[in-house]
Amino acid sequence: MYKSPRIESGRAATKQLLNLQGRCLAVSMDIPWSVFQKITRWDPDHIHMVANMDMEVVEAAEKSLPPCDVVVGIGGGSSVDMAKYIAWKRGCRMILVPSIISVDAPLTNTVAVRVDKKVKYIGDIYPEELIVDYDLIQQAPKDLNRAGACDIASIHTGLFDWKLAHDRTGERYDAGIAQEARECLLELDRHANDVYEVTPKGIDTVIDLFRREVEFCSRFGNSRPEEGSEHIVAYAIEHLTRRHFIHGDLVGLGIFLMTRLQHNGHDWAVELMKRVGLRYTCPDASPDEIRAALTGLKQFKTEADLFYSVVDTTPISTEFIEGAMAALAEQAGRR
Ligand SMILES: [Zn+2]
Repeated sequence: MYKSPRIESGRAATKQLLNLQGRCLAVSMDIPWSVFQKITRWDPDHIHMVANMDMEVVEAAEKSLPPCDVVVGIGGGSSVDMAKYIAWKRGCRMILVPSIISVDAPLTNTVAVRVDKKVKYIGDIYPEELIVDYDLIQQAPKDLNRAGACDIASIHTGLFDWKLAHDRTGERYDAGIAQEARECLLELDRHANDVYEVTPKGIDTVIDLFRREVEFCSRFGNSRPEEGSEHIVAYAIEHLTRRHFIHGDLVGLGIFLMTRLQHNGHDWAVELMKRVGLRYTCPDASPDEIRAALTGLKQFKTEADLFYSVVDTTPISTEFIEGAMAALAEQAGRR
């Protein structure tokens, strides 16, 4: 069941951890922990540094850690997910302290673990207490903080595919939720400059949009309102290259490419991505990799059994691919 989180945000907001009662277990990683310690010198009963999120490692770590009354996850996706795993297994109180806003993990109810090098989502625990410390988050690289906007910007392409699926296949659709999602997209548009600059207003905006998105997706029952063909592009590139990318780079690229295939406000979407600072030219993927992902996109989608989208209704021709690649190269040149 969805529970809405209590979010306390402010400068040095992590100072409130100093008043925490009971046995405290902190879960973090080297970099966020050392940055955090410069802001708030807090001495929990035990600190666990997350090595990786491989299923066996996660399970073994949870079993070997001392009992606690509260687990505090301080860091990015992995630290937060490890804290969620522990709280889910133990049923203890959990406080999440994101050190970066590049992913929505501090708001979602699932834990991303790796099984055979593939991401798998397990668990079910909605975070109830969040501390958003501007000083902490502002220490993270701006590019990474901006990347979080990708899962809000993806509403633009996601809503198009969702409506398309509804019209063509009768897939369940909720016009009210679609409208709420659209409002989130417009809110991102309104505060694009703050998101780009990672100001307190920008941080609060992204966190609040994550919160709203998680809430309406939970009410609907899945991520349809915010995940469309742009995520298929992202998954296809990860699958093809077997490398790890910044999620925002891949989804940004997916939005760039799929708005062209959808004929869906491409210029507007690109302008929005520029203004929030998403790296939609995906500098870590080569043009040949992007080309190959597009060529095999429909087959990948079918084999991975992903949702219905523009990929099902519009052929991805050589002409389309070359046009998109030329447009991308032009954008990359301007970067
Ligand atoms: Zn995403």
